[in-house]
Parts: sequence; C-alpha cells; structure tokens
Amino acid sequence: MVRVRFAPSPTGYLHVGGLRTALYNYLMARGLGGQFILRIEDTDRTRLVEDAVESLLNSLKWAGITPDEGAVIGGDKGPYVQSERLDIYHKMVQKLLDEDKAYYCFCTPERLESMRAELSAKGESTAYDRHCRSLSKEEVQERLAKGEPYVIRMKIPDNRTITFNDVVRGEVSFESSLVDDQVLIKTDGFPTYHLAAVVDDHLMEITHVIRGEEWLSSTPKHILLYEYFGWEPPRFVHVPLIINESGKKLSKRDGDVSVESYREKGYLPEALLNFLCLLGWNPGDEREFFTLDELVKAFSIERVRKSASVFDFGKLLYMNGLHMRAKSNEELARLALPFFEKLGKKAPDFDYLVKVVEVMAERANLLTDYATEAPYFYEDPQEYEEAAVKKRWKPVTHGLLSEWTELLNALEDFTPESIEKCLRDFAQSKEVGAGQLIHPVRLAVSGCGNGPSLFHMMEVLGRECCVRRLRKALEVLP
Ligand code: GLU
Repeated sequence: MVRVRFAPSPTGYLHVGGLRTALYNYLMARGLGGQFILRIEDTDRTRLVEDAVESLLNSLKWAGITPDEGAVIGGDKGPYVQSERLDIYHKMVQKLLDEDKAYYCFCTPERLESMRAELSAKGESTAYDRHCRSLSKEEVQERLAKGEPYVIRMKIPDNRTITFNDVVRGEVSFESSLVDDQVLIKTDGFPTYHLAAVVDDHLMEITHVIRGEEWLSSTPKHILLYEYFGWEPPRFVHVPLIINESGKKLSKRDGDVSVESYREKGYLPEALLNFLCLLGWNPGDEREFFTLDELVKAFSIERVRKSASVFDFGKLLYMNGLHMRAKSNEELARLALPFFEKLGKKAPDFDYLVKVVEVMAERANLLTDYATEAPYFYEDPQEYEEAAVKKRWKPVTHGLLSEWTELLNALEDFTPESIEKCLRDFAQSKEVGAGQLIHPVRLAVSGCGNGPSLFHMMEVLGRECCVRRLRKALEVLP
C-alpha cells in the first residue's frame, strides 16, 4: 500500500513549486490506489504566519488536490499537525539519548557564533565542533538540574559513507564527515524539522517521501535517524528545482509564485496543474494536454527527471487558453462571472455573458479576459483607438457609414449572416472593397482596431446598440 504525504510548513502562501510537489504525491497515490496524507510542519515557531494553514488548504482545495487523510480531515495516524505531537518527539529522542546516539548541548548562541566565525576565518567548515559531545553524564545532570538551556543533537558517526537510492537521482552518497551534528530538539522544546519529519514519516507509515530537491542534502541525516531508531526508511523521491530563465531558483522577482495569485488572475486549476506537472515530468510521448484524471492515468514517478525546469509564463498562459477552450460556454461564464465584481466592474447578465464567451472563444486565455479585454460588450466606447482611427477612418468613411447605418437599422433579421450580406452587398453597390466598411464599423461599435469576429460581435451587441454606436461615431469622428 503506497502512502505518501505533502508536508508544508505554514510560513505563507502555497508556492507553485509546493503545488507541484503536492500534485506528484497526489498523482502517485491516485494512480496506485494509495493514500495521500497532508501533514502540517509547524515546528519552526519563528517562521509561523497567521492564517497560513487556512490559505494552504484553500489553495489545495481550489486545485482539487484533496488529501485522503491529514490535518483538518483527520485519520487514525494523527494528530497531523506537528505542534500537537511534541510528547511523541520527546519520547523518541529520549531513546536516542539512552542509547548514546544523541547528546545534550549547552553551548550558548554566543559561543556558537564565535566558534563559527573562527572556523570560517580559517576557511574551515562551520559545522558544530562537538564541544558538548563528550560531557560526562554527571556534568550533564548537573547542568540540567541548574536549568541551563540546552538543545539535543544527534551524533553523526565518523568515517561513514551514507548511501541511498533516490527514485529520481539513483544512488546518492554523502560522507559523514560533511554532516553536522544536527540539532534534534531546540531550546524551546520543539523538534527540528529533521527529527519530526523522520518520526512522523515512520509512524504515519509513509512509503515514499516525494519532496523538493532542496532537501536532498538533509537526507543522509534522515537515513541515519532511521538507522538509529531501527526503522526501515521510505523510498526517497527528490523532484527537480523550478528555475527562471537565468537558471536561478524561481522567486517572487520573476513573477507570480503563489498559487493564489494565479487563481486571482483568472487561471484554471486544471491548466496550472497540467503545466506544473510537465515541469519535471513527461509522459514519454508528445502529449501535452491533460486533465487531472488523464494525469492520474499517465503519471509515473519513475519518469520524473533530474534536471531543473524553467518556468515559462507564456507557456502557462497558452495552456490556460487550451483548457478554457475545452470547457462549455456556460461553464466558462459561470467561472468568469465572479471576476467582474472582483475587478470592480458591473457583472453582466449570465445569458449575455455566455454569448460573449462564445464570440471570444479563440481570443480568451484567462477567465478575466471577458471583463478586461472586451469592455465594449458592456458599455459604449468612450474613445476610439487612435492608431486605428488614423489608419481606418478615411475621408470616404463618413458618407459610406451614414448610409449603411440606416440599412442596418432596417435589416429584417439581425444575424451574423444577414449583417455580413448587407455589408458586402452595400460595398459592392458602392464599388468599394468590403474592408472600407468592416474596419470603420468595428472601430465605431467597439472603439478598437481589433477584436473577435465583427458580425458575431454585432449580433451579441444587438441592433439598437450597434446603430446607436455607429451614429455616435459619425458624430464624434471627422
Ligand atoms: N516542511 C517541509 C517544507 O516545507 C517539507 C519537507 C519534506 O517534505 O520533507 O518544505
């Protein structure tokens, strides 16, 4: 039985990299009939951010990456929030102390600091110098009795090569001489991430630890802890970094990195997931478009690649357009409607928006596009695109358009076909190209030089609106 976990720390919003990690966990569990667990790692009390858990949960829920077990949901291996498991960590670390695999360290922050400064001045590794590793039992008892602040560190053995087999990276080895005597319990009594994650992964019966590559160098410590406890380690799967175009780790400076910001900008969760999944994984063929269900079927953790992947914002936008076009007009209108209010615009009538969505189909790549890219569907243009006026509004335009507006007003049915026929017949009768009318008409009814299919757009706007706008343009434009 596969059991995987996503273990975010509540230090802020959910990062797109975090969502990808959660997704890989989810896909592996779904694909193999396993369990996906959500654990909250809140042992670093200095980095906690209020409401972060709620915001993480909201982002996961929006994305549809729903855990089977874990924080808030519950399950029989809980609690799933690390700050509620302190007694477990203390019991576990006591075992290590009893077996001489961990030790009390009373070094003050000042001592550690000057030790590090000295070592780094000599150009040596600034790992803990193991000053307290050889304190006698009596001294330790005495100092504990006096109430001196302490941490508990793990004893890293000398001259060991620690090797494990990573699902993505293959065999990985670290020399123990390069591993620090890691703090397991801090002065505030909270465990460090390393102790808590190992204990929890074991007790929660996690079979595969899928996490970001930044944790690779911590893994030897974890392997040793499993050994010290006499536990079988899980399989490790370190997924590659997400980088920007200059090869650096993707950060806020490059653009949006929070899942929430993509939601707010009008991205669809299925597009974001599809895009993120392909950053670091491919199906082995040319396919690129996947729904979440299709990803479940196609995904295999063995195909996650080693090399870092560049986050291509343009590609994400393109994928969003593809996923939008896979939806019905009604569904898109339903999803797009709330954005009007969020953007401070008056929401259109639902049935009207369905028509706008239909006309905009090929042009919309974001749910917000219906509100931002085509304001003319909701209000008369207040101005006319200058460059387009210059290019399209000719001396003959006024005469042609005044005459045609009246024909349009009298047109029997107001369909794209009849409007088009009326325009082309009229152009022919005047011995001018249809373009002499099409461009200025678009300008008059939308204020823009470009847009969706003119005749379909006019049908959506309706006769009365088109005639009004044409007359207005004839008044305003020379
Ligand atoms: N709490 C860690 C983080 O926020 C999780 C690391 C892991 O998955 O082991 O990235």
